[in-house]
Amino acid sequence: MRILVTGGAGFLGSHLCDRLLERGNEIICLDNLFTGGKANISHHWTNPNFEFVRHDIVDPYKAEVDRIFNLACPASPIHYQYNAIKTIKTSVMGAINCLGLAKRLNARIFQASTSEVYGDPEVHPQPESYRGSVNPIGIRACYDEGKRCAETLFFDYHRQNGVDIRVVRIFNTYGPRMNADDGRVVSNFIVQALRGEDITVYGDGSQTRSFCFVDDLINGFLRMMDQDAIVGPINLGNPGEFTILELAEKVIQLTGTNSKIIFEPLPSDDPLQRQPDISLAKEHLDWEPKVPLEEGLKETIAYFRKDLGLD
Ligand code: NAD
Ligand code: UDP
Repeated sequence: MRILVTGGAGFLGSHLCDRLLERGNEIICLDNLFTGGKANISHHWTNPNFEFVRHDIVDPYKAEVDRIFNLACPASPIHYQYNAIKTIKTSVMGAINCLGLAKRLNARIFQASTSEVYGDPEVHPQPESYRGSVNPIGIRACYDEGKRCAETLFFDYHRQNGVDIRVVRIFNTYGPRMNADDGRVVSNFIVQALRGEDITVYGDGSQTRSFCFVDDLINGFLRMMDQDAIVGPINLGNPGEFTILELAEKVIQLTGTNSKIIFEPLPSDDPLQRQPDISLAKEHLDWEPKVPLEEGLKETIAYFRKDLGLD
């Protein structure tokens, strides 16, 4: 199969390209390199089944493909808030451009949606039926509402034009190839610990997140794309829930750093808690994450040691 992966030079996209190439597919990896990088995909440079296209998905793109994975969008709050309007354009116009292509080609298309569609949730853990609590004018809205609108577009193309969609809602995922400076909590804490810098906990650290290791998540992507029974949306994430303070302490313990925890102001609209209800994924995809946090953190720490030139 020939497969288009938008955002293919990013953290998740590059792992997805690896797995799809391993299966013998031909890949077009489309990326504008805003938060992704060639280093994430350079190991495929000489692979004849791999093609990199530098393109911005806000503009239409044409190619002959059998499947599309739409991942293009900055995912870390620092980067998606850097140019909020551009983030909305990427989500919404990117979805329209990819869906238009899927419609023309009769290609199955996958959307990387997010737990952020639940906003700061009043229901815990979050099932797919929960409609969310998003502040439409807050600083996270460019991402949250952009992704919500993209889901709307996916389901309207499905209902109106019969486009063969698959939509997953991804909860916080971490692992090798996260950007060292991308501001997400796992990469921030590990990089700070390895550099012996203070570990910056925002707020009092009692807010919770559930962290999924990247290999588990990509397994979920492939299971979702390969089955014919459901279109989604379906939650993919690790139900193990930790406070941010617990995460900081775990990173300190695993890196053996002398870094101290410091507390900084909590950004506005920062969700208090987040934990996926993955009953649907278990039932329909026979999927659940396998990698415990400690094991995934060790692998990620080893990656950053190399990435930062400490090994
Ligand atoms: P990432 O920032 O590493 O990857 C996003 C990629 O998209 C980058 O390579 C970036 O350069 C590219 N991109 C951004 N805007 C683009 C544009 N206009 N045109 C073309 N390419 C563009 O982030 P990630 O963690 O790999 O996230 C991938 C997808 O998964 C995103 O859609 C994100 O919203 C979603 N997601 C990720 C997580 C997570 O925890 N990692 C959670 C929920 C949802
Ligand atoms: N966070 C933190 N210190 C950091 C970066 C993030 O305490 O250096 C907190 C952040 O406020 C949030 C949680 O960690 O409560 C997860 O943040 P991240 O940006 O990784 O993802 P998201 O908020 O989108 O889940």
